[in-house]
Amino acid sequence: MAGTRSPYGTPMIVTRFAPSPNGSLHLGHAFSAIVAHDLAKERGGRCLLRIEDIDGVRSRPELAAEFRADLAWLGLEWEEVPAQSARVAAYEGAAERLRAMGLLYPCRCTRQAVRDEATAKGPDGPVYPGTCKGAAFAPGETVAWRLDVAGALRRTGPLTWPDERAGEQPARPELHGDVVLVRKDAETPASYHLAVTLDDAADGVTLVTRGIDLFSATHVHRLLQALLGLPVPTWHHHPLLLDENGAKLAKRRGSAGRGFGLADRRKAGEDGRVLAAALRAHRFPAGITLGESLSADS
Ligand SMILES: [Zn+2]
Repeated sequence: MAGTRSPYGTPMIVTRFAPSPNGSLHLGHAFSAIVAHDLAKERGGRCLLRIEDIDGVRSRPELAAEFRADLAWLGLEWEEVPAQSARVAAYEGAAERLRAMGLLYPCRCTRQAVRDEATAKGPDGPVYPGTCKGAAFAPGETVAWRLDVAGALRRTGPLTWPDERAGEQPARPELHGDVVLVRKDAETPASYHLAVTLDDAADGVTLVTRGIDLFSATHVHRLLQALLGLPVPTWHHHPLLLDENGAKLAKRRGSAGRGFGLADRRKAGEDGRVLAAALRAHRFPAGITLGESLSADS
């Protein structure tokens, strides 16, 4: 798939929509899917659907079928690629390579310990202060594995990444500190950073479209691409649908249950293509606006 060419000889654009089946989709997901779909179609490319289902605790497999029905209802076309749960061996292989480079180290800290010990705040909250770097571990102890970001940057040198909307960006993974790449719970083996970077490369994604709340995560993803010898796509971080409080629509705040849920609207007989046209024209229901930037905890 990677390197496929369009009829015009330029590399074919490949985008993706990658929802997690831990709750029903809402208008914010519809907007994101439309952005991915339209950017591909406008340029003669392909749009992929990837189900991000490695959160073994919260994933509900039956939601994947609901997502497909929602996207079809919106009038979108896509090609589905394997779900994350089919890719665990690739995540483990990449972690092993990073371990062999001496760039992963074990960590036993709880979230609470990280909050207590952190002295800096990063884009996603408290920055891990490196407590376990060089610490001794008993064989068989359950640990997470963190990326030694300083060591990684010594290896790669300075990096940049291209964003279609924001321009060329200097990669600053150090803002996040030593992020977890392999999680402690066996139910969810890879962190979002590792899984999504490997998946996009494996799927030949050339334009990563996603919400602007993930803008700073790209610093980490660019570093992982350099370490693992993966192709560098272009990114397109789109604005997000915000509610009347300025918070992004989110599954955990029950946005799907407040009249913003796609499956409910579909089952109530609404015309999904009309809804998609409204979202394309930035015509939103009362109280919903588009926002360009968010703090990590909003
Ligand atoms: Zn630790």
